[in-house]
Amino acid sequence: EIKEFPVVETPKEVAQLSQSFNHLLQRLNRKIKKEQQFVSDASHELRTPVAAIRGHVTLLKRRWHDHPEIVDDSLAYIDEESMRMKHLIEELLDLSRESQLPSQKTSFKLTEFTDRLVSEIQPAFAQKITVEASSEVMVNTDQTALHHILLSLLENAGKYSPKESAIKVLITTHQQEIDLSVADEGSGIADSEKENIFERFYRIDKSRSSRIPGTGLGLAIARQYATRISAELFVSDNLPKGSIFHLVFKRD
Ligand code: ADP
Repeated sequence: EIKEFPVVETPKEVAQLSQSFNHLLQRLNRKIKKEQQFVSDASHELRTPVAAIRGHVTLLKRRWHDHPEIVDDSLAYIDEESMRMKHLIEELLDLSRESQLPSQKTSFKLTEFTDRLVSEIQPAFAQKITVEASSEVMVNTDQTALHHILLSLLENAGKYSPKESAIKVLITTHQQEIDLSVADEGSGIADSEKENIFERFYRIDKSRSSRIPGTGLGLAIARQYATRISAELFVSDNLPKGSIFHLVFKRD
């Protein structure tokens, strides 16, 4: 990184400086390309539900007089597509807002916090979620960020694993760090996809074709929240089957 403009005197220093600039330019270019791709993906994702809604509105306008039986069907479609759009817009806003917010630390008991979150969401899950912690631990971190990350990981575990399987939240305390993990018994994630899934809009093809609802933004947002609390968010294999998402962060 070039922090301030250095004084260069020899040809060697000039060459070094120009190499650093080139490097920086390449990185900047890659970043710009990535942002352009993101805007194009976002527009595409929004265009699909808009097209569907417009199609049904046109259909209703033309035919509802003669074919009142189509009304319910079309309205249900419009309802579903507009909800999909609302969800996507909320996620996009979250993604842009999140990068600007400072972290707000508070002290709280992690196991108590996790138990509470799990009992709130358990009724919406087909799988049984259990929390395993060796002991209660106090942490000093941003509770909103932690809540958002854990919820995303649990929602994914619910979506991508069979109904009768088990989901475990594991709290492992190390000297300085905590590993808060969500383990499922689902399809698991191939090594080649383990980093891709954190990219914006990235979905493994299997999830697309199996029609599991989603935008591919959940893990990108979760990683942004993780960065806000200086945590690492990554995935490993759950043996014999499934994946474990780890959030590793400092106790305070
Ligand atoms: P979404 O769930 O909306 O597609 P995410 O960003 O949350 O988006 O996840 C990206 C992709 O990672 C998913 O589409 C899915 O292919 C894969 N994935 C996420 N969590 C899991 C999991 N627990 N097990 C298997 N695959 C997963």
